Amino acid sequence: MEKITEIVLLGSTGSIGTQTLDVCRTHKIKVKALSANSDTELLEKQAREFNPEYVVIANENYYGDMKARLSDTSIKVLSGEKGLCGAAALPKCKTVNAIVGMAGLVPTLSAIKAGNDIALANKETLVTGGKLVTDAVKRYGVQLLPIDSEHSAIFQCLMGAGENRFSKIILTASGGPFFGKKRAELASVTKEQALNHPNWDMGAKITIDSATLMNKGLEFIEAVWLFGAKPEEIEIVVQRQSIIHSAVEFADGAVIAQMGSADMRIPIQFALTYPNRLECPAKKLSLADVKELTFNKPDEETFECLAAAKKAITRGGNAPCIVNCANEAAVRLFLNDKIRFLDIGDAVNSALADVKFIQTPTLYDLLDTKKAAEEYVYKKFGLSE
Ligand code: NAD
Ligand code: MG
Repeated sequence: MEKITEIVLLGSTGSIGTQTLDVCRTHKIKVKALSANSDTELLEKQAREFNPEYVVIANENYYGDMKARLSDTSIKVLSGEKGLCGAAALPKCKTVNAIVGMAGLVPTLSAIKAGNDIALANKETLVTGGKLVTDAVKRYGVQLLPIDSEHSAIFQCLMGAGENRFSKIILTASGGPFFGKKRAELASVTKEQALNHPNWDMGAKITIDSATLMNKGLEFIEAVWLFGAKPEEIEIVVQRQSIIHSAVEFADGAVIAQMGSADMRIPIQFALTYPNRLECPAKKLSLADVKELTFNKPDEETFECLAAAKKAITRGGNAPCIVNCANEAAVRLFLNDKIRFLDIGDAVNSALADVKFIQTPTLYDLLDTKKAAEEYVYKKFGLSE
């Protein structure tokens, strides 16, 4: 069996980050670098347990605190995007990107250019910079292994396909906490209700994205880039129990699905140990206990973020970056009690209509698009950043 490479873990203090460290603990995988945005307390604790060579604190304001906390160790403290990119590119490592938001894009590109394989949880990397990232992956000959459970499922379903291309990707969705609700009922939902996901325990931003179905829209775009699918080849199906993590259909009508308990440590571990399968601390699936699996069509009229994301990838260019960044800004405002739940979809759709479209954006164009989309959303609600 191949030896598991050392990893660099960006976003180690988050939901995916801490579960990745759980896998590292189980299999004694060495960690060369850890990072957080501002949570110096947890980052210190993780650093003392895993003894990496580097830690990166992304928000420069916390650099002094981080440095003081580790002053009795030989761990080097880096900061900012430069620090993240430096860590991402440490030689002969697999770079795990568990950062939330488009902040993950530049470090992902840095890892690829250094020739590191990537285990990617940060879907916003592919949503905003899909073309740049997939071109770089080809050019530098690295592997891009998905951590997102649906994409890990699709990846696994395709492992036995040989030269056969899929005829369809069936991307499953839990439906989130507001499944079955109509617009009028969503007008007054609270942050607490939106943060209460039925099947998964995740970071705040993706939990809100799951409530608006933006998460499925982002995953739709992610699947286009990861698997070279055309938008019309991807069907979204609500699978309420989150047991079937996604499926693929072939020309003969055979459908291969991947199942498992709703525990991110399974796809995280597979991205770390690929192509090997090792014991995992996640609970094993008992289909007899699950009893029934249900399937529904998503309601794109009510959940207009999903419709906007599909429109954006069909339009191409910087359109997915516009919807992603408008959503990031709107979710931030919603989490800070500045706007209401339905304002998120409204912000995403109007940004898609109004923010400047660029057909073949460079990285700089995408970073400008981020700024423009965020400013647009703040202005729309009469707020300043
Ligand atoms: P989280 O909010 O729990 O953690 C995010 C991590 O990124 C933290 O370590 C935080 O310190 C760091 N971070 C935040 N802003 C940053 C910035 N500007 N620069 C650098 N670092 C920053 O998020 P999460 O739920 O772990 O999600 C991480 C990514 O994985 C997201 O892209 C999400 O869509 C994806 N994902 C998560 C899950 C899940 O179960 N949580 C499942 C599938 C995909
Ligand atoms: Mg997912």
